[in-house]
Amino acid sequence: RRLASVASVFDRRMIIIKSPAEIEKIRAAGRLTAKVLRILSESITPGVTTTADLDALAAILVKEGGGRAAFKGYMGFPAHICTSVNHQVVHGVPSNRVLMPGDILSIDMGVELDGYYADAAITVPIGEISPEAQRLLDVTRQALYVGIDQAQVGKRIGDIASAIQRFVEKHGYSVVRELVGHGVGKKIHEDPPVPNYGKPNSGPVLREGMTLAIEPMVNQGKPQVVCLSDKWTIVTEDGKLSAHFEHTVAITRKGPLILTVE
Ligand code: MG
Repeated sequence: RRLASVASVFDRRMIIIKSPAEIEKIRAAGRLTAKVLRILSESITPGVTTTADLDALAAILVKEGGGRAAFKGYMGFPAHICTSVNHQVVHGVPSNRVLMPGDILSIDMGVELDGYYADAAITVPIGEISPEAQRLLDVTRQALYVGIDQAQVGKRIGDIASAIQRFVEKHGYSVVRELVGHGVGKKIHEDPPVPNYGKPNSGPVLREGMTLAIEPMVNQGKPQVVCLSDKWTIVTEDGKLSAHFEHTVAITRKGPLILTVE
């Protein structure tokens, strides 16, 4: 994700079209991203594992895979992954916080491999979680696929955005406005911004060879978020839960191609 306010500064409408060979390279980065996210989620022991443990493991796994953790040092970010627990929305900094049964944890990671970038996020349950928390995870994951369904040649960014917003709000949740998805591939953050709210048939037209990070951030309560004093962690203003799922997707003539899968 990137800050919408930052997006407006950098938005020069320079959408980079990728060749099939370049998309293959992003796919390789995406394969490693998905693998690391899976191993991280499988490694968690509730009541024992800290978010810093996950960060250390991510560093090892990305290096073993021949890649580089793209968030490390990006705008000064101090870690390899973002770990956001419960009411933390995104950009949580790994720490000695122990993951406890009942928590939900969002893990967001960008990987550079051979000069190309992929970006993905998952939200995972820690041990047994409440039915309310599980429903939030389910709806947010589904919202991602509802958005991906719209990632078709000739449709527009607003079709992705509005489909996600409509689906989320239909389920009684809200979408974050201040942070948005983005183009990705040659850089970790490219044009265009990909909001999770908006009007159908608006925004840039989707063309073959565009690669987008689609990433609904869904709040259980109100959409407002605030940034903690660490200058990174974004939390819900009302303290209710938030979830985040993200894939890197290529626009192809055959339809959306998800690149962040193993
Ligand atoms: Mg992203």
